[in-house]
Amino acid sequence: MADEIDLANDLIDNEVSRALKKLREQAAINAEGAKFCIECDEPMPKARQSLGFKLCKPCAEENERRKSLFADD
Ligand SMILES: [Zn+2]
Repeated sequence: MADEIDLANDLIDNEVSRALKKLREQAAINAEGAKFCIECDEPMPKARQSLGFKLCKPCAEENERRKSLFADD
C-alpha cells in the first residue's frame, strides 16, 4: 500500500514539475514577445516586441475586428 502511495506521489511530482516547466517556458516567450508576426511573418517593430506582442499592428487590428465579428455577446 505504501509503495502505491509513493508511486502516486512520484507521478504527481512529475506532472507538477512538468506543468511548471511548461508555464515558465511559456512565460519566457510571452515576456520576450515575438520577433516576427505569428500571422504574416513580418518583422515586428522593437517597440511591439518589448511589449510582448505576437502580432504586427495590421494583424492585431484584423484580429480584433474578427474577434468582435464572431463574438457571441
Ligand atoms: Zn502581421
